[in-house]
Order: sequence, then structure tokens, then C-alpha cells
Amino acid sequence: MTTIILKPHKEESLKRFHPWVFSGAIARIVLDAAHAAAAPEEGELVCVCSAANEPLGVGHWQIGSIAVRILAFGVEQLPEHFWHERIRAAYQVREALGLIRPENNTFRLIHGEGDFLPGLIVDIYADTAVVQAHSVGMHVNRMEIAKALTDEIPQVQNVYYKSDDTLPFKAPIEGDKVGHLRETGTPGFRDAEEFWSMENGLEFRIDWLRGQKTGFFIDQRENRALVERYAKGKEVLNMFCYTGGFSLYALRGGARSVDSVDVSQKAIDLVNINVARNFPNDTRHHAYAADAFDFLNEKITNYDLIILDPPAFAKHRDAVKNALRGYQRINAKAIEMIRPGGILFTFSCSQAVDKEAFRLAVFSAAAQVGRKVRILHQLHQPQDHPINIYHPEGEYLKGLVLYVE
Ligand code: SAH
Repeated sequence: MTTIILKPHKEESLKRFHPWVFSGAIARIVLDAAHAAAAPEEGELVCVCSAANEPLGVGHWQIGSIAVRILAFGVEQLPEHFWHERIRAAYQVREALGLIRPENNTFRLIHGEGDFLPGLIVDIYADTAVVQAHSVGMHVNRMEIAKALTDEIPQVQNVYYKSDDTLPFKAPIEGDKVGHLRETGTPGFRDAEEFWSMENGLEFRIDWLRGQKTGFFIDQRENRALVERYAKGKEVLNMFCYTGGFSLYALRGGARSVDSVDVSQKAIDLVNINVARNFPNDTRHHAYAADAFDFLNEKITNYDLIILDPPAFAKHRDAVKNALRGYQRINAKAIEMIRPGGILFTFSCSQAVDKEAFRLAVFSAAAQVGRKVRILHQLHQPQDHPINIYHPEGEYLKGLVLYVE
């Protein structure tokens, strides 16, 4: 195996289990005999050693500022059965937390660094696992991962791969970035168009093929349940609704009416399908394909409960300033239009915007409008999206529930 030797003192973060090795920390690379080229191949397993030649761990090599993502600390080889064991361990945690129940067969199984598998996301929808690789190494290992999933997770019969948006686009990737990796049991992979998965007793059509991310935003499950608790008798606006997650919970919670808005017509079609499935002939719900700012500017209706769950406004650090301006603008609009005694659920899923910066943007929005606003809850990502304490970069979802006088 290729060995990566670090510069003196650069082993310290690895000894504290932070899983990334930055390219600037590398002193030299010792290739094994199998290499024809002068550099390691992207995605191959490498052993990282301190300047004193102490093995620190094994990880995936990649070109870029993060050169190695460590999979196993303190070893020179990946342990036998590594993939099976890691995946089984992640499943056991979710089972112990009570997340996997007949009425809840939708959950995130692998959350990258939070499950000690940097670069890998796996979401479970009923009998299907959707795998997303964020590193070339995970792409290279995708077949082992798929086999471990069907071997270790009792309900998983199909594994679908969807990494067209997440792999570094310059990497010379061998093999398809999307497609079926594995199917057991049911002959013939079912079409995602007719696929239903259950979250807390509500059914959602999951279209991993054409949908965003792996098909659904599992990370809002607990926050949706909180909306259900507050929805009774309220006129609700679910802005940036995607397939209607928050809307279904609000309807079940007894909302007087629910308006769902998303700029994507495809998303709006799915909201309507999901509402019809769970609440047939219910006239309380209306869906609009519209831009958020246009809708908020034109709509004269007031609401008692508003949910704002926009896409990541800042995808990179250099976009943070504009993102904060965006958060302030949209929150000011909502704080302005909500009825007295209204409740606003407002979120940011930009990893680059931390919770203090987000809170400051919402504070600025409240101050701009000049209404009395109190914080009722501070929300975050759920327990199947854990944050590895040694890798604080894994924290990305934050939300505030506000009471507007
Ligand atoms: N709340 C959703 C997830 C939201 S993801 C859930 O619980 O599942 C963000 C959504 O915002 C996407 O569906 C995207 O289509 C939508 N969106 C992006 N820009 C928008 C805009 N300018 N106006 C309205 N919706 C927008």
C-alpha cells in the first residue's frame, strides 16, 4: 500500500480523530511497487504515517486540498470485513435509538464523518438504499458497500447509486455515477415512480431518480413533528416545500389550511400526490409553483404559522455574505406578514453559515421589521445525521422557532 508521510507535528489532528489530511500537511509519498504512475491513484487506499513513521490510519486518497479521508485510525491495513462492520454498527445505533419502526422505514443510515465513513451518504427508503458518494474512494468501493448493505440491513433488497452531483467533477471516474448496484429478493427493480416510503406514519412518494439529493429530506423529520404539534387551527404557509414534508404534518396536526410553495413544478406535482395519498378529498391544502420572493410579495393572505426551509444559500465560504443577506430578506418578509401571535419556523442548511451567523441574520430581520420576536426553540439536524465531535464541520442544519407578537 502507498504510504503518506506527514510533516512533523501534522499528526496531532489525526490523533484527535479528525478524519481529514490536508495536502499541505504531507512531507512525502512512498508509492508501493504496483504503481506505474508517479502518484497514487484517486480513490485508492493509502496508509498515513507521522514524520516519525508511526502509522496513524488508512484512508482514501483524493486530489485536492483534502488529500486523505481516514476510514480507520491507528492501523496499517483496512480491517477484514470493514464495510460490513461499519454499516452494521450504524444500523445498530439507529435501531437502539428507536428510529426504525413499521411506521418509520425512512431514515439516514450513513451520515459521512458522523458515522465514521467520510464521503459516504446512505439513505434508506423502505426496502431500498440510496447511496451517494462524495469522494472518489467511496465511488471505487461502491460494490463492497452495496454488498454490505444487502447483507447487513434486513429490509434492504435494492441498492441504487446516485452520485452524479456529488463526485468531484474533474476526477476521471471509471464506471457509472448513477444506476442500480444490487438487487436481491424482488426480481426486477421497481420504478421509482411508484415507490412509497413511510415517515412517522405518513407516506411519501420517493423519486430518487429524478428528485433532489437522494430523493427526500430526511433531516427535517423531528422538526416536522414539532410543526404538527403547533398546527391545530392555524393557517399555514410551507415555503420551499419540496415534496411537502412539513405540509403533511401540519395537515395531520389539524391545520385550518396549508399553502405549499416551491419554485419547482415537479416538486409541486409530488406535494399534490402525497397530500392526495394521505388525506384523500381534503380541501384544506393548496400548492403553488412560484418563486418564494414573488409569492411573499404578491400574497396578501396572512398566516399564523410559516415554515421557511430554503436551499443552501451559501454552497461555499465565499458566498456567505450574500447568503446572510438572503436569509435576512426572506425572514424579514415572513416576520412582516405573519399574524400577531404567529409562529415562524426558519431554517438554514448551509454548512458554511454557522448557527450564530444565522441567528444574527434572523435578528437583523426582526429588528428591520420592528416587531417583538421571541425564540421558542433552537432546532438542528436529527439523531440519524450525527455530528462526530472531532469533526464539527458535520453540523449543517439549524433552525429557530420564533413567536411573533
Ligand atoms: N422543506 C423541504 C425541503 C426544502 S429543499 C422538505 O421538508 O422536504 C429546498 C426547496 O426550495 C427545493 O425544493 C427547491 O426547489 C426550492 N426552491 C429553490 N429556490 C426557490 C425559490 N426561489 N423559490 C421557491 N422555492 C425554491
